[in-house]
This record gives sequence, C-alpha cells and structure tokens, in this order.
Amino acid sequence: MRDTLVLNASFEPLSTVTMNRAVVLVLQDKAVVEQAHPELRMRGAALDIPAPRVIRLCRYVRVPFRRQAPWSRRGVLVRDRHRCGYCGRRATTVDHVVPRSRGGQDTWLNTVAACAEDNHRKADRTPEEAGMRLLREPFEPTPADAMLLALGGDLAELPEWLAPEAA
Ligand SMILES: [Zn+2]
Repeated sequence: MRDTLVLNASFEPLSTVTMNRAVVLVLQDKAVVEQAHPELRMRGAALDIPAPRVIRLCRYVRVPFRRQAPWSRRGVLVRDRHRCGYCGRRATTVDHVVPRSRGGQDTWLNTVAACAEDNHRKADRTPEEAGMRLLREPFEPTPADAMLLALGGDLAELPEWLAPEAA
C-alpha cells in the first residue's frame, strides 16, 4: 500500500499515513492536499479525487516524538485499529494483559484493544491462565499513531470502500 506524507501546518514533515487515512483527513477538513499523485485516483461510491501524495494539516499539532505518547484508552484503540488483540474482530474495550487487580499498569505494553466478549471471558486472568493467545504483542504507538491522537476527532473507522485506482 502506498503511503501519503503528512506535513504539519508549519510544513515540517510529521509522518506517513495510508492513502485512505489521508483522504479521510482531507474529507474531515483536517488537512489539505499539497501534492496529488499524477496517476492514481481514490474512487468510492460518491467520490473520485486524485490520490494525495502529500497532505498538510490545517492546524499545527504538537507531536511527542521524543517523549513517549501519554497512555490513554482511546490511544490503545487507535494503535490497534479498533481490532481485538485476541480474535481480530471489532474492539470497543481495552484489556490489561496483566490485570490491574494483579498489579498490571496502564501502559502501552500492558494493554490491548479487545472485544467486549473476550475482555469479559479473560476477566482477572493473564492470557496464559485464560488459555487465550495474543495475535500480536502490544507495542509503543508509532509516530503516525501519535499524530492521529494529537489531531483528535473520531478516528474509529476507515471506509473500506475507498481504494486507489489507476487514473
Ligand atoms: Zn475478541
């Protein structure tokens, strides 16, 4: 998948995001297209626009690149793309891998997005005790995640119908 470069309002490069994400940021008036791809268009049900190669945010965001992004439930859901860490289905809750009742902390490495069902099933147990396997290990958010979090707004879903096509 081709990526789009994101510039801050001050024109300094921030990170890259997927083209889908870039189009959504433009449609939400959070960013403007600085440079479009000459040969690719993004086509959807009621949309046909040049694929953005570079976008620029409409307002300046401070992104904690050097410092670690502060932990939040919303941040965990954004980092994990709202997919359950145990089954991959849509996640609306955050699970503590080591339960809080057992000393597990609110940290990026101890939390994963989880569907309500799996979160309930795991309860106050470690994945091992519950016989559940993590699809992937929790990780620190990427610069792109940190930027999207700093932008705010509802970042829950990306339209799946949006796809780049040759012009
Ligand atoms: Zn699940």
